Amino acid sequence: MATDRFQSRRNRLVRKLRKTNADVMLVTYEPNVTYLTGFSGDSSYLLLAKDLAVMVSDSRYTTQIQEECPGLEARIRKTAETILDTALKLARKQKIKKLAVEADTLAVSLWQRLGEQIPLQPTSGLVEELRMVKDADEIAEIRRAIDQAERGFGFLQAGLQDTMTELNVAHDLEHAMRRFGAEKAAFEIIAAVGDRAALPHARPGRRPVSSAEFLLIDWGAHSLGGYKSDLTRMLVTGKILPKLKKLYEVVLKAQEAGIAAIGPGVASRDVDRAARSVIERAGYGKQFGHGLGHGFGLEIHEHPRLSPVTKTRLSPGMVITIEPGIYLPGWGGIRIEDDVLVTRDGCEVLTSLPKQFADSVLR
Ligand code: ZN
Ligand code: ZN
Repeated sequence: MATDRFQSRRNRLVRKLRKTNADVMLVTYEPNVTYLTGFSGDSSYLLLAKDLAVMVSDSRYTTQIQEECPGLEARIRKTAETILDTALKLARKQKIKKLAVEADTLAVSLWQRLGEQIPLQPTSGLVEELRMVKDADEIAEIRRAIDQAERGFGFLQAGLQDTMTELNVAHDLEHAMRRFGAEKAAFEIIAAVGDRAALPHARPGRRPVSSAEFLLIDWGAHSLGGYKSDLTRMLVTGKILPKLKKLYEVVLKAQEAGIAAIGPGVASRDVDRAARSVIERAGYGKQFGHGLGHGFGLEIHEHPRLSPVTKTRLSPGMVITIEPGIYLPGWGGIRIEDDVLVTRDGCEVLTSLPKQFADSVLR
């Protein structure tokens, strides 16, 4: 990524900062620091104002900051100081009236220590609002993460054995994604056999694939550039249960209705409604207990959220998941998840794995 990307992101944040009562902002939330600087390490803060951008870090990261953030000023804390001390010293030099901090993520202990020395202005979602709309570099990186996830899944499908456990499935899938260039899995892979699929966030365990007729896999890749992908597919490994096929068709229809509703200016809750009403009409409204989808990028769950209560309107450049499901405790669950880019005239489905019921049948 070119350095000027990060510069322009910081400029946009400075413009938003003007609308608060603060003149300087201390960015402490790691993904936000990464977004604004390109730095992929941890424990580092960014101090930002109109004519100021300084990374405050420790000596472990001197070289990495030089490599990842060329041209960005860095202040390495002295051994006897904490990063907060160093940041405070710098902030005071700016003769600031108020320091903006990230109220949603700043630890209470840091809040107290900072507040004793400088007047604070809590802010919420300033960087996250910028991150909702992806730029061309970010979309390219998300496409990479999707490609790694899809190739990995193809590899898993080709080698899937009845004797494999959920843990084996998750492990093989992560291994394959890494073989195709991913740094790691985007989150702990969900591989849920049979009735375990009724838990939307099932943790993989020792259940073998052979112990039921189907399994649900929810996975994604984390690309070397730090961006994620997020997909869900069902695999039918035993005899075809008519109930499974029937529910699958409902979920697929709901997902297609959700995708068809996506476009710039559309309220995210209306997209949720389009999909949810299909499931409700089939009589399973109560069995679809979560939101329809979410934004993702540097993190697996970002804004916008798509649910019956969210107020965000979609705009071009947002990348969201569409993942309706039906969950029947004790029997199993079905979810289908794809990644979608909102475009100027509608949307583009970025994921390309086939998803007709017949495509999920392995034998
Ligand atoms: Zn997922
Ligand atoms: Zn998801």
